[in-house]
Amino acid sequence: RSTTVPNIDGSLNTEEDDDEDDVVDLAANSLLNKLIRQSLVESSHRVEVLQKDPSSPLYSVKTFEELRLKEELLKGIYAMGFNRPSKIQEMALPMMLAHPPQNLIAQSQSGTGKTAAFVLAMLSRVNALELFPQCLCLAPTYELALQTGRVVERMGKFCVDVEVMYAIRGNRIPRGTDVTKQIVIGTPGTVLDWCFKRKLIDLTKIRVFVLDEADVMIDTQGFSDQSIRIQRALPSECQMLLFSATFEDSVWQFAERIIPDPNVIKLRKEELTLNNIRQYYVLCENRKDKYQALCNIYGGITIGQAIIFCQTRRNAKWLTVEMMQDGHQVSLLSGELTVEQRASIIQRFRDGKEKVLITTNVCARGIDVKQVTIVVNFDLPVNQSEEPDYETYLHRIGRTGRFGKKGLAFNMIEVDKLPLLMKIQDHFNSSIKQLDPEDMDEIE
Ligand code: ADP
Repeated sequence: RSTTVPNIDGSLNTEEDDDEDDVVDLAANSLLNKLIRQSLVESSHRVEVLQKDPSSPLYSVKTFEELRLKEELLKGIYAMGFNRPSKIQEMALPMMLAHPPQNLIAQSQSGTGKTAAFVLAMLSRVNALELFPQCLCLAPTYELALQTGRVVERMGKFCVDVEVMYAIRGNRIPRGTDVTKQIVIGTPGTVLDWCFKRKLIDLTKIRVFVLDEADVMIDTQGFSDQSIRIQRALPSECQMLLFSATFEDSVWQFAERIIPDPNVIKLRKEELTLNNIRQYYVLCENRKDKYQALCNIYGGITIGQAIIFCQTRRNAKWLTVEMMQDGHQVSLLSGELTVEQRASIIQRFRDGKEKVLITTNVCARGIDVKQVTIVVNFDLPVNQSEEPDYETYLHRIGRTGRFGKKGLAFNMIEVDKLPLLMKIQDHFNSSIKQLDPEDMDEIE
């Protein structure tokens, strides 16, 4: 029998669902980003380029025509609605399509056009008449491999006879069959198996090798070593390309081990700021009180769309039920959902079908909240030692300076949490004003 102790407000703490869902799954986040992203992410930074041979001229292209691609490939690009190369593609594509092929390490945040770039490189180097694997792309998970495969299929729509094969667990190839598809996308373990044990892929015939999501890859046990074993068996003339959304030292060290003589392209991430955000806090006694304050705010100002953050799943569920019972249209984004379910909830919210999205820390990482003007911290983000989690606070309510709109942020604070809020205020050197929830005039 479990012992449950009622909280002040009468709710119950139960052992099992009280845990925080704060295990960040990098691969799931990356997939989520892909599922919900429909357009390029803008960036105000300049692309930094480090050439293998600094004396060779540096090319950049402003149009896809300049790349002298095969007709059918150009058609595929335009059919996808691309008008011109993205910032990173302007620099990366000439290097990737050069003769002789050049190796490349590229880092830029997700949504900046990396996948489209390397898919283009693979498709432009493939010979449709040769029926064996010529391009090999490693991805961290089955789902991510599939996403890349979809891009190959869309961009290669007019490249007849070019086909993709997935080297992923569960994709069984009967004994004695030859792999005749030109492009293979897979996870390191299965690819290794297909190359060395089953001899389905002849690595000496690979012309383009892509290592995608390097940061996610090295986060997974065994993937770095497996990738390196594969890379070692490739011919020296094979083009090697590595992509990553982030670039900590560990990614960099791995990249340098696996990509010989690389060119390097980097696009710094857009930084978040609180400059355009007006921040408020409301002092509350308990959870019920917080909810009341939230309702007052909700009734007091015209809210477009709002995201409400809770620290635990349990709180998020409770709040969702309360709001629903009061007739609000809300949806709950929770860590228990599959990535596809999460993507679909975010999509509905983005389409304006729901006005309020309630969520916990982890889920929030994948969401791009550009159009949302109001963010509510129903609970302040704290780390395991009950100190403020500054990064998460910034992530929740910050916007990128140039592209972000103005916004409002509300913090619901129990009296004993006030010192945490003050720390946050000091940390960011920005003011968080106290608000009387009965008097909303202060806001507008
Ligand atoms: P990344 O791999 O860096 O996450 P993607 O290649 O997946 O970025 O591109 C992000 C989004 O932008 C996708 O929806 C993709 O179709 C689109 N996209 C990529 N390149 C271009 C381009 N040159 N013009 C317009 N949209 C593009």
